[in-house]
Amino acid sequence: MLNVAGRVVETKKKGNDVAVIVSAMGDTTDNLIDLAAQITDNPSPREMDMLLSTGEQMSVALLAMAVQSLGSKAISFTGSQLEIVTDDIHTKAKIRDIKQAGRVHGAFKDGNIVIIAGFQGVSSGDDITTLGRGGSDLTAVAIAKVLGADLCEIYTDVEGIFTADPRIVSDARKLAVISYDEMLEMASLGAQVMQARSIEFAKKYDVNIVVRSSMSNAEGTLITKEVKDMEDLLITGVTNDTKEAKISVNGVPDKPGMAAKIFNALGNNNIGVDMIIQSASQGSGDNSISFTVQKTDLRKALEITESIAKEIGVKGVSSVEGIAKVSVVGIGMKSHSGVAGRMFSALAGEKINIEMISTSEIKISCVIKLEDVQKAVRVLHKEFGLGQAGGRKK
Ligand code: ASP
Ligand code: MG
Repeated sequence: MLNVAGRVVETKKKGNDVAVIVSAMGDTTDNLIDLAAQITDNPSPREMDMLLSTGEQMSVALLAMAVQSLGSKAISFTGSQLEIVTDDIHTKAKIRDIKQAGRVHGAFKDGNIVIIAGFQGVSSGDDITTLGRGGSDLTAVAIAKVLGADLCEIYTDVEGIFTADPRIVSDARKLAVISYDEMLEMASLGAQVMQARSIEFAKKYDVNIVVRSSMSNAEGTLITKEVKDMEDLLITGVTNDTKEAKISVNGVPDKPGMAAKIFNALGNNNIGVDMIIQSASQGSGDNSISFTVQKTDLRKALEITESIAKEIGVKGVSSVEGIAKVSVVGIGMKSHSGVAGRMFSALAGEKINIEMISTSEIKISCVIKLEDVQKAVRVLHKEFGLGQAGGRKK
């Protein structure tokens, strides 16, 4: 707290008005979730938000005291006090409006550093809501937008966005700059530095973000809108995600409406599906469909899939947890061809089998065996020249 307070005071002394959005300390949010789990398997979402929002309320008060103890003026606000109005979807609410931004401006005028609780808002029915895990990022971007801030700095436990996970690739490089779209792909592909929704918001409203370390003064990574020379480099980063599992449904009758049945049932139960492949087994009149879901959703997803399978007369449903997804991301792909071939060849060169493939305009992902994931990330990082020597200039 005192370390953060020191940095904030320093920034203020350089002549800036400073609003600080804080998250809960350490494992506080996880611990609160555990407490609820000790009471019930099925806590009411409204009460869950009452509980979870307390972590950030502790943080704002303590940080305000810390700033004051250094001799500067500070005042803290909760989400409700600033009327950060959200919809009423508890535990994953969306911000609609911030009505009391004037209170922040007023506090600035009085010489205060303003400390705001992240992750929380208030519904139109006056209930406390939270914005989904990692939601302080979203609060920060939204506050930056309504205050018209020059910059939204995200202080975290890494020094910025890297070309690959530095724990896997020893010569991974910190990027000076990355586009919103690339960051969005990286955020949803397992490079969990920032909440993906906060980047969507920043893209929509053109908020420049810098991700940097809370422990060092090293320059971070600027997340900003796409500029022409970003395309000079083919690939910006390699990501890996080991949080998904695969479900396969074999012998699905080859007629209209079968896939719809399965995926509607999953969707209606709020289970997000990532990759889907369908292959026709020739002549037999059957298809097989495989898809991936979060491991945490696997049990429920299997139950649902099995019950639909019975209904439509499917031969078998199976699942595998030992998979990983590796992806290459880069806006350079829009204007260059041949990336897929190079990626698959590099994997083949290491005898890594590809189980599923999916693509977007700026990304190619492959599902492989979990035990191959580190080897895959390293070979792809090398193949696309992402090490210390190569790389995008700012
Ligand atoms: N404290 C919340 C969480 O752990 C919000 C955040 O960290 O951004 O998800
Ligand atoms: Mg966080």
